[in-house]
Amino acid sequence: MHNNAMVGYSLILAASALVPGALFAGLYGDIPNATHAWAVHDTNRPKPSRVTINEKGVPSDAIVLFDGTKESFEKNWCDGNGGPAKWIVNDDGTFSCGTGFKFGECRTREEFGDCQLHIEYKHPADITSIGGGAQMRGNSGVFLMGPKYGYEVQVLESYFTCKELDGTPEFVQNYADGQAGAVYAENPPLVNPQRKPGEWQVYDIVFHQPVWKGSQLTHPGSITVFFNGVLVQDHWEMEGQTTHCRRRPLAPHPAKGPLSLQDHGCPVSFRNIWLRPLASRWDNLTHSDMSADPEKVMAERRATAAKLYAKIADPKAATADNVKALAEVVSYADEGAYAADFRNALEAYRAKPGDAKEVKSVNDALNVLVRGKVIPESAKIANPK
Ligand code: MG
Repeated sequence: MHNNAMVGYSLILAASALVPGALFAGLYGDIPNATHAWAVHDTNRPKPSRVTINEKGVPSDAIVLFDGTKESFEKNWCDGNGGPAKWIVNDDGTFSCGTGFKFGECRTREEFGDCQLHIEYKHPADITSIGGGAQMRGNSGVFLMGPKYGYEVQVLESYFTCKELDGTPEFVQNYADGQAGAVYAENPPLVNPQRKPGEWQVYDIVFHQPVWKGSQLTHPGSITVFFNGVLVQDHWEMEGQTTHCRRRPLAPHPAKGPLSLQDHGCPVSFRNIWLRPLASRWDNLTHSDMSADPEKVMAERRATAAKLYAKIADPKAATADNVKALAEVVSYADEGAYAADFRNALEAYRAKPGDAKEVKSVNDALNVLVRGKVIPESAKIANPK
């Protein structure tokens, strides 16, 4: 379409191919293309919605999964069968699992997919290994999408099981891919920022589940973990569903699952749990080289073109402002009445241009279309002598 549109332009060459970028509303950055519905720096692009943060640090668009009350616990959490969770709600705004494997899974009633999760946990200050070994020192786990499909960020007492304390009397031998902050059995935390037992530990997790097209894996998904504010999982792309001892390859599963906390027979308490569901980058069908659908991109571009065109009082008028406004319209959709009006207005303006300053402002807009290969360089306006 663009090549045809270029035919018929008179070969009037602008004095300079490069016009210093003067800022103006409208056409400015590189124009929309097959995978980007908006231009660079596009003022037509929808603005992010505002999120406020309350005095507890909870974003206004978060789902609060535990606010410290029994009501909140009972409303949001259940056991593995949907019945009342057996974990204990304490008077200090926390809930706990105890010893003996008697408590069972504690999972959210609501199910989630990709998310940002904030969760805090604490081990007893006088923690001991229940039955021996590092894996029985405060073991629990944050299972994203539930234990069945299992992406576990490990919860453990790892202050005394970290490499740096090797040789101290309190040191307990452990495997790195099973310590606190690990993607269990897959990737150890980058560093160990855990505080001593008895102090609160904080996980801020960003989780994106694997993306499948049928049985074809498009992306393995990723887990990012900040542990007490320190990055310990740096966009780790999952290799499998986490499990003990074995490598369990990724496999398709439902798009949503519960957030689940593990009963590993060890005492551990939780508080301040909130989650923000996130859209996957692969859900972005109008603005992404990786996932855009050209038909949806074009539909969005046409919608923007229609809105901008409707603002022009007289699309036939050969004024500089009109040429610029129509140039912006055709940057979204160079077709039909938009294309005809733009090219007619441009030719009429070329026959009767304004002063040098005005011509420069028109050429600034036309330059963006030249960069986008909508029009040839020769379509620009010659500078007035
Ligand atoms: Mg665990």
